[in-house]
Amino acid sequence: MQSPCNTGASDWLSATAAEAGFARLDCEIFPEFGPGTVWLVGAGPGAPGLLSLLGYHALQHCDVIVYDALVNSDILRWARRGAAVEFAGKRGGKPSPDQRDISFRLIDLAREGNRVLRLKGGDPFIFGRGGEEAGQLAKAGISFRIVPGITAGIGGLAYAGIPATHRDINHSVLFLTGHDATGAMPANVNWKAVARASPVIVMYMAMKHLLQIAHELLANGRDAREQVLIISNATLPSQEVHETDLASVEHYLRTHAPATPALVVVGNLSPWRAILDWYGTSLRENKIG
Ligand code: SAH
Repeated sequence: MQSPCNTGASDWLSATAAEAGFARLDCEIFPEFGPGTVWLVGAGPGAPGLLSLLGYHALQHCDVIVYDALVNSDILRWARRGAAVEFAGKRGGKPSPDQRDISFRLIDLAREGNRVLRLKGGDPFIFGRGGEEAGQLAKAGISFRIVPGITAGIGGLAYAGIPATHRDINHSVLFLTGHDATGAMPANVNWKAVARASPVIVMYMAMKHLLQIAHELLANGRDAREQVLIISNATLPSQEVHETDLASVEHYLRTHAPATPALVVVGNLSPWRAILDWYGTSLRENKIG
């Protein structure tokens, strides 16, 4: 059957997808994904439904997908039939491929004339080394596009019923990484400035050094009773939210082992969560989100 816009380009659509409206979506003018170019696409925090329309378009038109460990593999089911799929990430405790190797792989694939989809968890430019990869592509003269994704620090908070900003409580939010490129506690963080910067601090990759981070925040003036929320597997049916406070983090971690990936949120947010925790009470049967 021809699509309503008569492009004839929708033969990849299943009947169900067409009925659901993707056929009409395919009539919209999407940017051309040209041969020899790379799209760095944010896949969102986990729930497949949080992928953007541009990301979906890229999946449908790419030749090769190079994806990270945090990308939900359910999203890959939407790839064009025939697209090659390559994994580039850490798995089962094995060391991750060198960042330079990944960038060079993207460059090689593009130079071979492929439409290369680099699919990354969350947003490519938030703690995802997307900047480094785009930088290498720019240096090599490869044309590229960045498709933002919903970062875990936004999507995960929404699924935990936590407003990242709220007119009555906080006017700013701070995103922080809990370790540097070597996995150590980041050395050049001004903890005094961090502790004072924002009523809400959202930390990525912070579980390994959480005790030390809590200590730094307390030593620099944060209230011992301030809440610490740990959101594991955010936006997925296995999502869990652990609640403790800055003074009790050590004890909490001795008795609980939150699953990773996890976000750590510091701030007085529990009152809102108590009212807004819509996902905690959902049946979570729908894998799309
Ligand atoms: N670019 C990604 C972040 C990559 S850094 C983004 O924008 O979301 C990896 C860290 O992100 C993890 O250590 C964890 O802190 C966080 N993260 C990513 N996905 C997550 C999820 N589904 N649940 C909880 N934390 C997540």
